[in-house]
Amino acid sequence: MYEEERKQLVELLKKKGIKDERVLDAINSIQRHLFIPDVIGFHAYKDTALPIGYNQTISQPYTVAFMTEALELKRGYKVLEIGTGSGYQAAVLIHIGMKVYSIERNFEIYSRTQKLFDRMGLRAAIRCADGTLGWEEFAPYDGIIVTAGSPIVPDNLLKQLKIGRKLVIPVGDKQTQSMKIVTKISEDENDIKSISSFAFVPLVGKQGWKEE
Ligand code: SAH
Repeated sequence: MYEEERKQLVELLKKKGIKDERVLDAINSIQRHLFIPDVIGFHAYKDTALPIGYNQTISQPYTVAFMTEALELKRGYKVLEIGTGSGYQAAVLIHIGMKVYSIERNFEIYSRTQKLFDRMGLRAAIRCADGTLGWEEFAPYDGIIVTAGSPIVPDNLLKQLKIGRKLVIPVGDKQTQSMKIVTKISEDENDIKSISSFAFVPLVGKQGWKEE
């Protein structure tokens, strides 16, 4: 289903500057409509964020592709995701050969996505917790991706990242954020690139926004 729509989406992402063939192949293969509510299934291959309930969203395909490409991943890397949500971003990471550890703070979303992954045979370690604290047990990671907007770059996440590797995180206010691509140079030195104009739902937690 929706093969043609997926192809068109891939063409659009190429035009918008996505070059990583593995990422484009993942977008071409993964059935995004299975990660969103049935009633809006026909919107799945538009390049937009969509509601998934509980005031949360599935990220825009361009953003998923952009962040995945920015991590500069190699097969078999261990990647930590904060904000599992629908599970689509995690599915992209799995498709390109990553070992995925993902944290979701909302219990309903967490259990729904865990069930979806079981049904689809997608293998990832998913946990219900505050992701701003990271996931110490499996650290250090070869890449960390935060898919909710944060007021700061949480120290815990930087601590759990391998030297030489990248953390990709939207940082800003609650309305708009710029994407920070943080490369950990040494234990106390980072290189940060910043790309403006992204919009994510807030990262809520000890090193994120306070719950309202
Ligand atoms: N990667 C997701 C995007 C989901 S939106 C996807 O592909 O669909 C962001 C998600 O982050 C929401 O589900 C929200 O509940 C979750 N979230 C917000 N703050 C969090 C935190 N501190 N730890 C873990 N998850 C968090």
